[in-house]
Amino acid sequence: MPNTVSCSISLPAIRNIINGIVMAYLINSKCIDCDMCVPECPNHAISVTDHRYVINPDKCTECVGFYDEPTCVRVCPIRCIKKDPKHNETREQLIAKFKALNS
Ligand code: SF4
Ligand code: SF4
Repeated sequence: MPNTVSCSISLPAIRNIINGIVMAYLINSKCIDCDMCVPECPNHAISVTDHRYVINPDKCTECVGFYDEPTCVRVCPIRCIKKDPKHNETREQLIAKFKALNS
């Protein structure tokens, strides 16, 4: 039995998890325009312009306040929705954003 495991999470991401920092999400260039994610976002954070799907980091709460996991990531058939390292936020900040968006 092997005594090692493989892991697809980057070291910076692991450090952020340990430090309690989470991130908004972004849609990368592999997107196939299937439109599955748009109606699923509870914050209406995903927009489409000229077949380009974009997540507004000011509205993305990682689904905090609505679901236990990011629902856009769950429904995306090709897994092209990734953490956005340019938008580090703590869980407390995401909760505050959720409250501000939904007050
Ligand atoms: S993680 Fe949640 S809030 Fe953020 S874009 Fe995806 S569905 Fe919307
Ligand atoms: S679900 Fe994934 S592939 Fe489909 S539009 Fe959204 S980001 Fe693109």
